[in-house]
Amino acid sequence: MKFFKYIFLLFILFFIILYFKPISSKKDYIQLNQSVPKINLKSLEENFKEGLKIKTISDKSFYNQNEFDRFDNLLKEKYQNLYKLNLLTKINQSYVFKIKGKNSSNPVLFYAHYDVVPVTEKDWSSDPFAALTDKEGFIVGRGAFDDKASVFSLLEVFNYFLENQIIPENDLYLALGEDEEVGGLKGAKKIADYFKKENIFFEWTLDEGGFVLEGDNLKIKNQVAFVGTGERGYLDLKITLKGEAGHSSFPPKENVIEKMAKLIGFLKKEQKINNLPFSFKQMIEYSLPSMSTDYQFLFNNFWLFEPLLIYIFDQDNKLRATINSSMTTTIINGGLKSNILPSEVSVVINCRLLPGITDEYIKKMILDAYKKAKISESINLEVINYNPASTNIVPDQKSWNLIASAIKTIDSNVEPIPYLSLGGTDSTHFSEIAKNNYRFLFIRTLKDRLKGMHGVDEKISIKELEELYQFYYLLMINL
Ligand SMILES: [Zn+2]
Repeated sequence: MKFFKYIFLLFILFFIILYFKPISSKKDYIQLNQSVPKINLKSLEENFKEGLKIKTISDKSFYNQNEFDRFDNLLKEKYQNLYKLNLLTKINQSYVFKIKGKNSSNPVLFYAHYDVVPVTEKDWSSDPFAALTDKEGFIVGRGAFDDKASVFSLLEVFNYFLENQIIPENDLYLALGEDEEVGGLKGAKKIADYFKKENIFFEWTLDEGGFVLEGDNLKIKNQVAFVGTGERGYLDLKITLKGEAGHSSFPPKENVIEKMAKLIGFLKKEQKINNLPFSFKQMIEYSLPSMSTDYQFLFNNFWLFEPLLIYIFDQDNKLRATINSSMTTTIINGGLKSNILPSEVSVVINCRLLPGITDEYIKKMILDAYKKAKISESINLEVINYNPASTNIVPDQKSWNLIASAIKTIDSNVEPIPYLSLGGTDSTHFSEIAKNNYRFLFIRTLKDRLKGMHGVDEKISIKELEELYQFYYLLMINL
């Protein structure tokens, strides 16, 4: 009996040691001295609404050059200061504005896109291009927070600096892209090429790609500012199997369509999650100090609970996306007639890749599955689209502290946490022109608000616009 008692006591001791493992604090934020001057909210609101009314849809089937020209005229009319001083470089229909700082060695780039996705007008409660204010005081319109709120808040801060002849510590750049929603090849990509040509390398860049959300997913009571420090890669890959055509009256045991199904089955088995990725562990490391003690216990002991956490996260589609690269078949082609065996089948798989996983890695994974499935037909792999995952996702302490401090200055109850952005942004084009690429909008997209993005009744309140303006102001004045 005594023996069991000791074992029991040892067990208790073991858990106490675990429980009191110190939690490293990431909360040494700088005190920002500058307060935000009262802004002319009226002008921000008016200009923003004018911008929302312009149908800058970048989707090919809805594209209208006149609308982009209208947007150009709006900027010229409302932000004369930015034009007067020759601060502009126009690239296609994208813009680069610059304010010269006291120092040119550590420039910073603020980025937003002014194109929007199309609308299904009948589903909206009001005209998506009328910029009307709803009963709750929200301004409704396509692009309200993706991404015209950012466009106009940034323009207003730049305008304020010029009007008041404020010279920032470092050179400030503001770039506005024209086609983020269709990949950014005319806008962000060309802007990045321009900076490369000019030999301008940024200390950091800031784009959309994270919001202020409820902290429940991370078991945090407060609201959380999810600041993207990187994003997943994107890959569309076509797999083709070629075999012999033939008559369906005397088919082989497995025809080429069935072989493809087998190959996909093997591929799915390869997708097992063995470890939690670095991006996830980094997010947790920053979250720990704000978690309740029971969850701290769970998340601070990966060595013990990693398999359990992987199991829990694997049950939910959204959570799984944070801990593993995803791979799913989206297009299939093969077979023309019901009584003829096809000689060729192809599928397109769409992958979202965690940092460290490349197109070559996925190709090897497919070839391994192909070998394991013992398929005799020839295989061909073709990369259709590929954007590599971010390589540097560790925030640099100085810029991270500034961003986190600006968030805390606006609302000390919001917890800044770095995370890996699940969707794609134009920042993917900026990885070679900066040390760090941050993705974050100070907009509280709580409850159902995120559904408006690319959905219906996208909206933002004046208070939210003001907070976004304050956030940018604090960053630019404290560089
Ligand atoms: Zn966007």
